[in-house]
Amino acid sequence: MPTETFEFQVEARQLLQMMIHSIYSNKDVFLRELVSNASDALDKLRLEALRDDSLDADVSDLHIDIETDRQTRTLTVRDNGIGMSHDEVVQLIGTIANSGTAKFLRELKEAEGTTAAEGLIGQFGVGFYSSFMVADEVTLLTRRAGESQGTRWTSSGEGTYTIETVDSAPQGTAVTLRLKPEDVDDQLHDYVSPWKIREIVKRYSDFITWPVRMVPEAADGAEGADDAPREPETLNSMKALWARSRDEVTDDEYHELYKHISHDWSAPLETIRLQAEGTFEYQALLFIPSHAPQDLFMQGYQRGVQLYVKRVFIMDDCEALMPPYLRFVKGVVDAQDLSLNVSREILQQDRQIQLMHRRLAKKVLSTVKDMMSAEPERYATFWREFGRVLKEGLLSDFENREAILGVSSFATTHDKDEPTTLRQYVERMKDGQEHIFYLTGESRQAIENSPHMEAFRAKGVEVLLLTDPVDEVWVEAEPAFDGKQLRSVAKGEVDFGTEEEKKEAATEREGRQQEYAGLLGWMTERLSGTVKEVRLSSRLTVSPACIVSDTHDVTPALQNMYRAMGQ
Ligand code: ADP
Ligand code: MG
Repeated sequence: MPTETFEFQVEARQLLQMMIHSIYSNKDVFLRELVSNASDALDKLRLEALRDDSLDADVSDLHIDIETDRQTRTLTVRDNGIGMSHDEVVQLIGTIANSGTAKFLRELKEAEGTTAAEGLIGQFGVGFYSSFMVADEVTLLTRRAGESQGTRWTSSGEGTYTIETVDSAPQGTAVTLRLKPEDVDDQLHDYVSPWKIREIVKRYSDFITWPVRMVPEAADGAEGADDAPREPETLNSMKALWARSRDEVTDDEYHELYKHISHDWSAPLETIRLQAEGTFEYQALLFIPSHAPQDLFMQGYQRGVQLYVKRVFIMDDCEALMPPYLRFVKGVVDAQDLSLNVSREILQQDRQIQLMHRRLAKKVLSTVKDMMSAEPERYATFWREFGRVLKEGLLSDFENREAILGVSSFATTHDKDEPTTLRQYVERMKDGQEHIFYLTGESRQAIENSPHMEAFRAKGVEVLLLTDPVDEVWVEAEPAFDGKQLRSVAKGEVDFGTEEEKKEAATEREGRQQEYAGLLGWMTERLSGTVKEVRLSSRLTVSPACIVSDTHDVTPALQNMYRAMGQ
């Protein structure tokens, strides 16, 4: 079979360059990435075998083996999982499909040399390519389960890779790294030492549900070594973290599980545990990431919560478990009483799953609420990263609307930098103020310049400044918080002050209305067809006039939005 040479896609090449020049200070994680991929491949094979009886694959002894050879300076991670076809190798290893990557690379280029660059890098996982941090050549030999021919892929990470078809290859994938000399000679980075391998696997991959084994190096020169092949040593405990009690598991262990399932390289912001007993038993271990992924708002965004059934991985991104506005939550849900064959369609209709979904959503919201009061700074990070997504829930999840409002923050006239919670707003409300006032607009500045704001400014009444597009929509329902309705300052009559003051203002308005009846009548006539009514207002202090909508009219911004959507 001829060997074909291919070029890496541009983004892939850029990323590889960064790997070769070791942008990460912790190189050990390359092994975590390889073991993680091997584990995914075993999960996939088990599932496919379960769904397809005719699949010609051996699933009797699934495992991950690590072999080292000091003489040749090589380290191999081998799995007997699903493997890859020729085309899959080209597609999955030669290109970067993740749409967020290009954006990440652009941002990184802009931030080059700054501390922001460090932070960016730390967040971004590079998976398989991390091999090139420690290797000057990587070979991948793979055969997809059910296929007869295998594929060998080789590259030094410098722009091109070669692919050749091989007649006999074991099922699954073996990745062999030829380590850079400095990554063998240096005691700290001696990646052919059993001691080092053991340590890394224990630290990063202990929870992997498949045996990760170390195959002893062929005992060259070892005096009196018996000829019998030595047994591989299993390095990980394989214990599902979610099934262990809280005090048995360290934060670091939780974090490593998070990194495995989320493909994120930084630690989560929050870990959430939930154990449900009774007729429908399940365990959930959920995580709130510390930063929003690049593609959170793109179509087809994936990788939320994984579903396990009795410790067996069933599916990624189980949308039946989490509402879309909590799609940033990662984690594992392990249910006792579901069939291993359960499908997405069945899950969507299952009553128990619907109950679980509700309970998980409430649990996430209550965790955020606790965070808000106990750790304001951490909450601030949460809101900065995920507030925009969370607010989508105000439109879709009526049951939890007040809870979502309760954990939301808004820009406010009270403080030009710090956002406020509704609780804080309510505490500052003036005597006689019944509503929570807001105004929507394109930017803080646009809102502050609005004539609608004048009276509020003059009276010192706080107004929330809502600038996210989604704000235009959810406020339409005029939700209430703590019994106080949210009211736009641009709609209908606004009155605040004590009963006394309100009455006074009304009488005064009436008197003046009569006084100006002639002018108002004339204006109404002139503007008929354009406005419903012309009336005197106490809401202006500087501007001569402003346009107000009725309480139940759609706002101008929303009208624009509908028009843009062709309605
Ligand atoms: P990620 O794991 O985040 O998808 P990686 O760079 O680690 O990204 O891997 C890219 C893809 O290559 C994987 O999604 C998978 O499809 C494929 N792959 C990598 N390693 C293996 C393996 N050992 N067996 C089968 N497929 C693999
Ligand atoms: Mg990976």
